[in-house]
Amino acid sequence: MTTALIYDPIFLEHITPEQHLDKPERMQWAMDVLRGLNWLEREGLVQLAPRAATVDELAAVHERDYIQKVEAAARKVAEKQESGGRKTRFFATDTYISARSYEAAIKAAGAPITAIDAIMKGEVNNAYCLVRPPGHHAVAESAMGYCLFNNVAVAARYAIDQYGLERVMIIDYDVHHGNATQEMFYEDPRVLYFSIHQAPFYPGTGLSDERGAGAGLGTTINVPLPATTGYETYEPVFRQVMAPAAERFDPQLLLVSAGFDAHWKDPLGGMYLSTAGFARLTGIIIELAQYLCNGRLVMVQEGGYDLQAMANCVATCVNLLLGDDAAVDNLGPAPTTKWRINTDVLIAELRRIHKLTGYRMRNAPKPDIERLRREVKGPDA
Ligand SMILES: [Zn+2]
Repeated sequence: MTTALIYDPIFLEHITPEQHLDKPERMQWAMDVLRGLNWLEREGLVQLAPRAATVDELAAVHERDYIQKVEAAARKVAEKQESGGRKTRFFATDTYISARSYEAAIKAAGAPITAIDAIMKGEVNNAYCLVRPPGHHAVAESAMGYCLFNNVAVAARYAIDQYGLERVMIIDYDVHHGNATQEMFYEDPRVLYFSIHQAPFYPGTGLSDERGAGAGLGTTINVPLPATTGYETYEPVFRQVMAPAAERFDPQLLLVSAGFDAHWKDPLGGMYLSTAGFARLTGIIIELAQYLCNGRLVMVQEGGYDLQAMANCVATCVNLLLGDDAAVDNLGPAPTTKWRINTDVLIAELRRIHKLTGYRMRNAPKPDIERLRREVKGPDA
């Protein structure tokens, strides 16, 4: 396997206030763990610098006025900073802008584009884009929730517009619902958006009956789950809802909104996934990409605010993309909970909502009817 790691030090230049959770250190920790493991020199890993997304590429999902507004805001901070002004300024809800934020943001959006080009040209099999600012809350006309441009949405449209792909799937396991990604493709049958997230929680969208509209009805799948949900629920949702929905849709490319704020150590999210749990979920996605679309898979960084947990998860994903299956974990399992949601009922309901009841995957193991018959025989037989 050949994996591209796409990163640029410009991502450290998007500066937020002291107490803000989206810190430049997130990138540094992830790179330090990869470096510490000597994985940057590892066979099969190709480091690529992202190109900047063009205004036209951004404008496939964002309003042109808004793109200009981001650029102008960054320029203004730079000008004021020269005369002693602050390094970072409030721009939109929870979102700040510094002098080089626009440059960072267009490279963050350009990273998955660089990945798609490398994959489509056959130079690499898959890619991890270690980027910030994140993207999945940035709507067409505004920044929101730490995000300036919707990196994964820009990438999905690029694959469709540039390579003529007809079906792209986005899997979003960030702890937050990707409201903007959903909105941008809500009526677009070419993009299947699957999100599993904490609810009730920011940003408040992502109910299970939000399923798309018009021609896109059925190509939005939301799995809202209560806080403290862990792997024992995520795994069956992935295998019994996400995977069959993916097979039915038959994507030509898989994109992942890779947020690790559902990690039990995360200061923002309330979910109980461990790094090993993230590893197994990512393994399911990689298997699916191999089975459905020649392994074409691009992971794009979203959230993840515990520095160690996020860095471990990034290294784990890179390891898995390279074909290994070990997790990089020094934090251990999630705390245990006193109660669990009834996963069987949840799965049955999700399969009903998304018309997957009775759907069997082509490669699903067949039940051994003979063995089942033997097992139901009574004591006299
Ligand atoms: Zn998040």
